[in-house]
Amino acid sequence: MPSEFTGKHVTVAGLGVSGVPAAKVLHGLGAHVTVVNDGDDERARAQAAELEALGVTVRLGDGDTLPEGTELIVTAPGWKPTKPLFTAAGQAGVPVWGDVELAWRLRGLDGRKPAPWLAVTGTNGKTTTVQMLASILKAAGLRTAAVGNIGVSLLDAVTGEQEYDVLAVELSSYQLHWAPSLRAHSAAVLNLAPDHLDWHGSMEAYAADKGRIYEGNQVACVYNVDATDKPSTEDLVRAADVEEGCRAIGFTGGTPGPSQLGVVEGLLVDRAFVEDRQKNAQELAEVSDVDPPAPHNIANALAAAGLARAFGVSAAAVRDGLRAFTPDAHRIAHVADVDGVAYVDDSKATNTHATEASLAAYESIVWIAGGLAKGATFDELVTGAAKRLRGAVLIGADRALIREALARHAPEVPVVDLDRTDTGAMLQAVQEARRLARPGDTVLLAPACASMDMFTNYNQRGDAFAQAVRELGA
Ligand code: ADP
Repeated sequence: MPSEFTGKHVTVAGLGVSGVPAAKVLHGLGAHVTVVNDGDDERARAQAAELEALGVTVRLGDGDTLPEGTELIVTAPGWKPTKPLFTAAGQAGVPVWGDVELAWRLRGLDGRKPAPWLAVTGTNGKTTTVQMLASILKAAGLRTAAVGNIGVSLLDAVTGEQEYDVLAVELSSYQLHWAPSLRAHSAAVLNLAPDHLDWHGSMEAYAADKGRIYEGNQVACVYNVDATDKPSTEDLVRAADVEEGCRAIGFTGGTPGPSQLGVVEGLLVDRAFVEDRQKNAQELAEVSDVDPPAPHNIANALAAAGLARAFGVSAAAVRDGLRAFTPDAHRIAHVADVDGVAYVDDSKATNTHATEASLAAYESIVWIAGGLAKGATFDELVTGAAKRLRGAVLIGADRALIREALARHAPEVPVVDLDRTDTGAMLQAVQEARRLARPGDTVLLAPACASMDMFTNYNQRGDAFAQAVRELGA
């Protein structure tokens, strides 16, 4: 079937998770596809060979030259807007789309009615919230999937065989940057803390890209009432151009006002999607239905509930969906209790904002932290958590930054500084943590840093922690 892509000269920027499937889909639609890629390693060559066999042109080792005749660029979301390729595209008037924009434009191309998107972004909590949302939508009997970073890819969701009633879509700030025409049914920005600023250029630019998720929303823009960062997620709602009648819906860990979801006496309640919201509230679930029931995770559950309710889902389905949800590995995962001490793996806490949330979830903590700081500072984090810290064990390349912050703001907290980055380091870290811990404490791996100095990724770091804890208990 001819489409706007037939015969078009499209350059796909970047091989990899989004580039290879994008090139295949575009080629299948009759476009003349050229893939450009910075790297020229073994993996890239294997991917190139696969695409070339289909008839796609691939240029390895040069991601900066705009191929002659390009009419459209489809970029991997991580490519920086300042790259020379995009400067050249701007000068030539060539539009640049990301993988999300492409997926959005491909909806309905096969003649099927496109499924609406319930979209989620935020600095932290995206994956968890999208999974909670998908669980709720399933409990409501809807055909759905959690789409994005995990599970089904966006391209598969819009072009695959499977039909959906609605999609729960996770979007990063990079993806939103490159998705100018995306229009979600409803969307949520969970929170906003400085992250990826080197990519976006400034906090304002980062916030503006996140805020794009609200553009053109039809039913609800869900925002975080409690967030104190500026601009607030509510500011982003105000700045967005939405469909007539679209509502701003807040979520809060406290008592909700009208048009908000919140918590009252251990219950998640809805004061937004009810008759006479000035007087009424609808009980959705118990706080204990959410796993783990930590404050930041209750916020995720409320945001997911807000989006589901905007889509017309019943209160009972919200409860059933939240009960059915189990968190992914390495996200505040309880590994074991040893000698009355709980060991918790939050290896996914790779930045200070995530770590702040997990430190807030426990009363008395031996904190295992460190790794690659990515330019972060730790003063605020340590100041906020000082009273809860029984001790700290520091690992990884940038551990001195955390040690110095502890010395400044929590000098009484005992600190063990591990001067090794080999694979046995985590076992020693856990042993040191055990020595510092008292019954009733929590040993919490929440590194506030990336893992790549010592591990392949945060999964491997969390697995090493869990393995070390098992060795303690053995
Ligand atoms: P993302 O997909 O945005 O990276 P995840 O759901 O994978 O988010 O959670 C990543 C980490 O962020 C978790 O390990 C947890 O420590 C933290 N986190 C989750 N939800 C929140 C939240 N609402 N606010 C702050 N931190 C959070």
